[in-house]
Amino acid sequence: MQTSAADLNYICERVNHLRSHFNSGGTRTYQWRLTQLNQLKKMLIEQEKAFLQALSQDLAKSEYEAWTSEVGFTTSEIEHSIRSLKKWMRPRKVSTPLVAQPAKSYQLPEPLGTVLIIGAWNYPIQLVLGPLVAAIAAGNCAVIKPSELSPACSALIAKLIPEYLDSEAICVIEGAVAETTELLKQKFDHIMYTGGEGVAKIVMRAAAENLTPVTLELGGKSPCIVDNNTNLGVTVSRIIWNKWMNAGQTCVAPDYVLIEKSQADKFVAKLKDKLQEFYGQDVKSNSDYGRIVNKRHLIRLVAYLDNQNVVIGGEHDLEQKYLAPTVVLDPPADSPLMLEEVFGPILPIVTVENIEQSIEFVNHRAKPLALYVYTNNSQFEQKVLNTTSSGNVCVNDGMMFMTNPNLPFGGVGNSGMGHYHGQSGFDTFSHLKTVMKRATFIDPTLRYPPFTSTKLNI
Ligand code: NAD
Repeated sequence: MQTSAADLNYICERVNHLRSHFNSGGTRTYQWRLTQLNQLKKMLIEQEKAFLQALSQDLAKSEYEAWTSEVGFTTSEIEHSIRSLKKWMRPRKVSTPLVAQPAKSYQLPEPLGTVLIIGAWNYPIQLVLGPLVAAIAAGNCAVIKPSELSPACSALIAKLIPEYLDSEAICVIEGAVAETTELLKQKFDHIMYTGGEGVAKIVMRAAAENLTPVTLELGGKSPCIVDNNTNLGVTVSRIIWNKWMNAGQTCVAPDYVLIEKSQADKFVAKLKDKLQEFYGQDVKSNSDYGRIVNKRHLIRLVAYLDNQNVVIGGEHDLEQKYLAPTVVLDPPADSPLMLEEVFGPILPIVTVENIEQSIEFVNHRAKPLALYVYTNNSQFEQKVLNTTSSGNVCVNDGMMFMTNPNLPFGGVGNSGMGHYHGQSGFDTFSHLKTVMKRATFIDPTLRYPPFTSTKLNI
């Protein structure tokens, strides 16, 4: 059934209501921000079971994984924001040059207004509530639009947010393309979008109509370079944790591995051993291993395996939306597996004659969201850091860097623009207004007309 324009009128009404509420000033105070953040934390604690259940329904996430990467992750982001809020809200003093003395100069963070947060389905709690934490901390009104591809989480968020948070300032709009298109017609003061490149262009085009700034949290093919000089056991464990969490549906999962040809067999054998140690012989029955979000995505993933050298896994079950942890050795560079973001449990291994060639390989592709390098050679580490570009880097681990709220998270080039997490999220949803306050007890006439020759000769 098609949604008619009249059916979507409520979206314009809700956004207008939020905009006029913002103008009343209610969301600007420290107390309002603190109360909302505490309420959000309370919601995650009191409703933990419901969140874990919804995540299991949408993506078959195990309780452990769902808690660490979604509920617990978001709770610690809230706690960090609560602890830091006063400091972030303070004026930020800067020095004043002699020409403007006597004066004081500072930046005063102010909320942007009413912001839109559009989330993706793979971490359906974290990806809408994380940005919401930052938007609230910065004192904004916010509309959140969870992904329709994770319907249980979307419905739960839509039910709980009005129960716990100030409905005058924060609202949830559920839906898919029609609803998002209608939302994008509205005037917002900032849009944060998490998802793929194609829709990011739609969002940015719509934002341009209103000169609305955007933060785009996108993806791409994140490389994982494995040097010969590394602790192979730890390296493989960490790559498995990073790659097969949420069945590979993680924006910062390693998309492919680059390794020297001479090391490939040893690496594949270790992967096989460790995968069995972690998930057992019968991965399909192991509740620690997730499912693909829907059949369409599973069909896309299985098609990547056509004519490839599958050295581990490959088994799938369409009804159960299951795809085994799968490893492909040396896929052709022009195959879809190496041209598109995998975003699933398939790990291509690309071999190079010399590990230094991995840098060239990375630099021939779009700038990725994350880059991982496993090495004990600090010279090689520095070379990778200084000659490649990516949103984020982790040396000798995977997405552990995301646990540090002091590290701004975001992409570069095709992997996105802008940042959030911790203070960077607060700053994203704030305008850092510059203020200069000048003294009036002296007022030299030098700058005022008439510009006499005496003034010009000074
Ligand atoms: P998705 O299908 O859930 O889409 C994202 C959002 O866009 C949803 O809310 C959806 O309703 C909306 N949308 C879809 N079509 C639209 C349209 N035509 N017009 C307007 N809005 C529309 O998610 P996805 O795109 O499949 O997400 C996967 C991508 O997201 C991957 O590339 C992944 O790497 C990236 N990702 C990035 C991050 C990050 O933090 N950088 C996190 C998760 C996912």
